[in-house]
Amino acid sequence: MGKASKDKRDIYYRKAKEEGWRARSAFKLLQIDEEFDIFRGVKRAVDLCAAPGSWSQVLSRKLYVPAKSSTESRDGDLPLIVAIDLQPMAPIDGVIQVQGDITNARTAEVVIKHFDGCKADLVVCDGAPDVTGLHDMDEFVQSQLILAALTIVTHVLRVGGKFVAKIFRGKDTSLLYSQLKLFFPYVTFAKPKSSRNSSIEAFAVCENYSPPEGFNQKDLYHLLEKVGTPCGSDNLDCSSGWLEGANKVYIPFLACGDLNGYDSDRSYPLPSSADGSSYQSLDPVQPPIAPPYKTAIELKKASSHEYLRGATSKVQPLAEAFRR
Ligand code: SAM
Repeated sequence: MGKASKDKRDIYYRKAKEEGWRARSAFKLLQIDEEFDIFRGVKRAVDLCAAPGSWSQVLSRKLYVPAKSSTESRDGDLPLIVAIDLQPMAPIDGVIQVQGDITNARTAEVVIKHFDGCKADLVVCDGAPDVTGLHDMDEFVQSQLILAALTIVTHVLRVGGKFVAKIFRGKDTSLLYSQLKLFFPYVTFAKPKSSRNSSIEAFAVCENYSPPEGFNQKDLYHLLEKVGTPCGSDNLDCSSGWLEGANKVYIPFLACGDLNGYDSDRSYPLPSSADGSSYQSLDPVQPPIAPPYKTAIELKKASSHEYLRGATSKVQPLAEAFRR
């Protein structure tokens, strides 16, 4: 797909470049905020799985930039934003970056250190493993990432705080919902308008963090197992009957973002410029600085050069023979 054609088919991709966002995902967080007011009163935030950084940009623009420009703010009062990803990302105003794996306990320790004894008001996680296209597998790996995020949440989120996490809807959605409900009285699965209908992604918006009384972080997995293990329906503890009858779990599911706003599944005509010149597609705001596919591209380039060299060496003698 050419750049202009992508601009036409994906309005949020085009708008992201126009508004200076590194990725179209920025609109998902903004639309979640429109519905749930997630930034209200937030002074400390964690962005898990943050690269290339559009959610961190949203946090920076919503929390850090206004505080910085306010004359009353002194340095000590400025919001603290910590972003973590396996990949490095280009700097963002007011965002501390940590390169690491969120499933690794050491990464959680680094994040906690940055908070220096204080707790976060908001944790967001847009983590996604490399999608294989095998839905069950993708959903399983995604749920593991959410559980890793939940582990960090239990260490850094203050009581009453909020957690927003990307989920993949599938057969374990109600299990995940029940697990999150152990820690949050309000859990809603939201689908922002900028998230394509064809995508199984949605976002769990969890409000008012309230861990069970006497909860010890070391017992997290034990506690979750009481509800069930992802993709392990055989192990479900159904004694409470939460899957059946009157106790069946009904998950609040909400479409969010202006319903009259842009539809991510529609193509929109490209604007023509005032002077009548043809449409110029903008370059991405900030390409990833070390994407995992970089090595693959280099290997592909090297092998196609090799292939061309091999093909040339085969064609040249033939051309010579014809010439003779
Ligand atoms: N929210 C980001 C934005 O707005 O720019 C986009 C996030 S992207 C969809 C998913 C990210 O999850 C990738 O950058 C990937 O490196 C990261 N990721 C996947 N598994 C991870 C892990 N175990 N630890 C840290 N980051 C991870």
